[in-house]
Order: sequence, then C-alpha cells, then structure tokens
Amino acid sequence: RKILTQHGFVDKDLLTYPYEERGLQFGDGIYEVIRIYHGDYYLLTEHVERLFRSAAAIKLTVPYNKEQVYHKLAELLEINDVKGDAKVYLQITRGSAARDHVFPDTEPNFYAYVQDLPRPLTELKNGVSVITQEDERWQNCYIKSLNLLPNILAKQEAKEQNCFEAILHRKEKVTECSSSNVYIVKDGKIYTHPETNNILHGCVRSKVKTLAQNLNIPLIEEAFTLEDLQTADEVFLTSSNAEVMPIISIDHKQVQDGKPGTKTISLQKAYEQDAKIEQDA
Ligand code: PLP
Repeated sequence: RKILTQHGFVDKDLLTYPYEERGLQFGDGIYEVIRIYHGDYYLLTEHVERLFRSAAAIKLTVPYNKEQVYHKLAELLEINDVKGDAKVYLQITRGSAARDHVFPDTEPNFYAYVQDLPRPLTELKNGVSVITQEDERWQNCYIKSLNLLPNILAKQEAKEQNCFEAILHRKEKVTECSSSNVYIVKDGKIYTHPETNNILHGCVRSKVKTLAQNLNIPLIEEAFTLEDLQTADEVFLTSSNAEVMPIISIDHKQVQDGKPGTKTISLQKAYEQDAKIEQDA
C-alpha cells in the first residue's frame, strides 16, 4: 500500500520520520479519521472542514487548499485500488526541526494512509458495554489534536473491564466517550452534549442530528448527568468507526432490558440508508 505524503506517494515500508519530529516529541499536530464504504468516502466534506478548523485552532497552516486535499484524498483511494470498507487516517504535524517549544520555520509533515475496516456488525446488532470515567482532558476537545493520552487511558481501562468504550464526565455532566459521541433517549427525546469546546464535534453526530429530524425524533443539545444515564430509556454512541452503536450496559449494570432500543435501531437504519450500506447488514 502507498502512503500519501507532502513529497508524493511513498511505499508504506519506506516512510520514516526524523527523531526530531514535532508530532512525536510534542504531539504538535492534528488528524482525521474518514470512513470509506464500498470504496467511497462518507461525510468527506465534514471531515475536511473539521481538519481546517483544527489546523486554524493550533495556528497550523495546512500545506494545501481544500480543493487540493479533496484531490489528493481521491488519488489515495485510486492508487491503492480501494473498493471495500476502509478508513483513511490523515495527520498533519508542525514538521521536523531541532526541539524547541516555539514554532519552527519548517514545512508541516502531512501524511494519509488507508486501512481496511470491516463494519462492526455483531456489536451493531447486539449492542456494547461501557464504563464511566472522569473526563481528564483539556479545555479544547473540539480540536482533533494528536494529544490523546487521556483518551487512550480511558479506552484501555474500558478494555481491561471487557468494555467497548468509556463514557467521560466532567463532575456530574457527561461530555462524550474516549473516541465517540454519546446520547441518551428519554421519553422519546434524544439528548447529547452541545457543541462546545468540551467535545469533539463529531461528523456522525452532525449526521445524526439530520437523521433524527427526518425521523421526527426531537434531539436536544443539552448536557445530561450521570444520573440521567442510569435512568435513560436508551443509550447509544456514534463515530466514524462505530457508526450508531447501541449501549446495553454501563458500569456492568444493564440499560433497561439490556437490548438495543427502538429509537437507536431507527437511527442505525437511517444511517445505513444514508451511507448506502443497508444491504450489507
Ligand atoms: N469524540 C472523540 C473524542 C473522537 O475521537 C471521535 C472520533 O474519533 C468522535 C467523538 C466521533 O467523531 P466522528 O463522528 O467525526 O468520527
């Protein structure tokens, strides 16, 4: 497989970076994970827009304009002859230079590569278990920054407890998960944290807003509490990797009857229609 870099396409085994690379030394960079179904990008505009927002937020100049980014990402799929379900990981760092906190006067390092990614069909059907954890991240979680240590530690704790994800909370208020957004359904309405600096503005989250509207399910962007989680009728999470994923257990306690909820299933179906993948389920 070929990796897209600022110096053209490079064989995956030949791409190396100097030890003084700012992504490695400082986490000084941003990234995107973009879903591909049947060889086509899904929600590509949303991801590219967010990439430029993240870059601007850390004063990083993307070495291309948006048009060029679209063109290069299309080329990446072509050159690798991608036809199935996959994802692209794209990263931009502030470049390679002698270690100094102050921004260097060098060009950014840009790369993007494709990885096969089958849909998590079993989990989508049966639902997943999660734990809750204090949200220990900084105040700018809307930036898709490379600094993921709190996210990694939360996800690892979930894994060690045989769970799929960790729901994060700041004091009593639920923000999102370690790598996904989270929602509850209560009395027919969906609730999720508003798009403030405390959450990543998920591309699937934006899509779910539209899908809920089309299904006439009110979606209220209001933070809910840990207590609301315990009494919710349904709980689910969303991300480019996990799609619309039912949560059936929280901290080893069942959510209602321990089965995916009806509103969650309607949203899953609407998502599959939108992404044109309904025949695969
Ligand atoms: N929240 C966090 C912290 C994430 O890392 C992600 C994606 O990886 C999401 C939410 C979901 O974002 P998206 O729907 O754009 O994949």
